[in-house]
Amino acid sequence: MLERTLNFKLLEMCSKCGACYSICPSCMNIPGYDPRAVIKDILSGDHEKWLSSRHIWECLECHYCVEICYQHYGFENAMTALRNIATRKGMHPPQVKRGWDMFVKTGKLGEPALPARKKLGLPEPKASGGEELKKLYSLLKERRSGEGSDITAEEGGKP
Ligand code: SF4
Ligand code: SF4
Repeated sequence: MLERTLNFKLLEMCSKCGACYSICPSCMNIPGYDPRAVIKDILSGDHEKWLSSRHIWECLECHYCVEICYQHYGFENAMTALRNIATRKGMHPPQVKRGWDMFVKTGKLGEPALPARKKLGLPEPKASGGEELKKLYSLLKERRSGEGSDITAEEGGKP
C-alpha cells in the first residue's frame, strides 16, 4: 500500500541524506522525533510499529523539509502517509476526531480567541462557511456512492 503512495526511490536517498533534519522544527524541539528512523522502517517494510506512535502526529506540516530538499520531496511525505494509514485504521489520537467533527460541523478547526483578537484590535472573524462545507460534503458523498466507492480519509472521509 505504501509503495503506491510514497516514492521509495526518493526515500532511499533520505535514508542517506538527512539534510532536513537540522532545519525541521519538530526534530529540533521534540525529543525522539526523527523521521529518518520512520523512513528506515518504511523501506524495510516495518512501518506498522509507527502507526501507534505519537511521533507521526508531531510533524507540523510546515513544508521546510520539502523546500530545502534537493529532490523536492521531504520527510513530511512519509509522516503524512503513515498518518493516513493510522487514521483509516482508527488509530488516530482522539483530538484528531474532535478536530474533524468540528470541521465538518462548522468549517473551522478551532474557535477564534475573541478576547485576544479584541485586545489586539483585530476585526471580528468571518463566518466559517460551515453550511457551504456541509453541502459540498454531501455532494461528494452522493457522487462517491454513485460510483460505488467510499470517501477515503484523505478525500474527506470521516476519521
Ligand atoms: S513538514 Fe514536518 S518533517 Fe518537514 S520540516 Fe516541517 S515538521 Fe519537520
Ligand atoms: S527530504 Fe530531501 S533533504 Fe530531507 S533527508 Fe530526504 S533527500 Fe535529504
